[in-house]
Amino acid sequence: MITAGVSLDRLRYIFITHHHSDHDLEYGTLFYNAWAAKRLRHVDAYGPVGLRRMTGDFFDYMKFDIETRIVDEGVDDPRQLVKVHEFNRAGIVMQNADVKVTSVRVRHPPITQSYAYRFDAKDRSVVISGDTAYSPELANLAKGADILIHEAMYLPAIENLVKQNPVAKRLREHLLASHTSTEDVGRIAAQSGVKVVVLSHLVPGDDPSITDEQWSEGVRRHFGGKIIVGRDLMEI
Ligand SMILES: [Zn+2]
Ligand SMILES: [Zn+2]
Repeated sequence: MITAGVSLDRLRYIFITHHHSDHDLEYGTLFYNAWAAKRLRHVDAYGPVGLRRMTGDFFDYMKFDIETRIVDEGVDDPRQLVKVHEFNRAGIVMQNADVKVTSVRVRHPPITQSYAYRFDAKDRSVVISGDTAYSPELANLAKGADILIHEAMYLPAIENLVKQNPVAKRLREHLLASHTSTEDVGRIAAQSGVKVVVLSHLVPGDDPSITDEQWSEGVRRHFGGKIIVGRDLMEI
């Protein structure tokens, strides 16, 4: 947030899609660092069941520091500043004067509580897939939206990975069952009728030899709209 030029005191809402570590690990430190920097106001955190316990456990983990700073620095108790809203089914997650947030359950085995979010603001609608295999439910959620931010997996690179390391076979099975190939991202984007698809949560995410053209070509086979390969700190 800081590198993107977003001040920590603007942190107001947090949306978690599912409880895998690459989505949760910095949840606590996000609002906690804002609090320690005396920039935390009120935060509403939304996510699937398990979020309340995780938040409580994080505060337990930091208990000594919380109690020290309250006495030593006279700061507000952060446990009063974070409000958790957890859910276990699709529907309206949150609504205020600026935005309506709806969710749909997506396919990310073995996790059953994995969600995509749709944000409808006055001037645009944005859908974020979260982690999912090919999910027609997601295409429905994204109907008529302006932008679909979808996770993407580049299959040729996964095959190379397995060739080099036979142990990666099991990883390959997990990836194929719970993530979406670029071709299938194209299918979902076409079904939803969005104008722009942004590829995100790239798997593999650590292979700079895969060009934007390679990421895009599978999507383009099915989708005629604009394709953007998402990169850290990119502004759209
Ligand atoms: Zn995941
Ligand atoms: Zn993930």
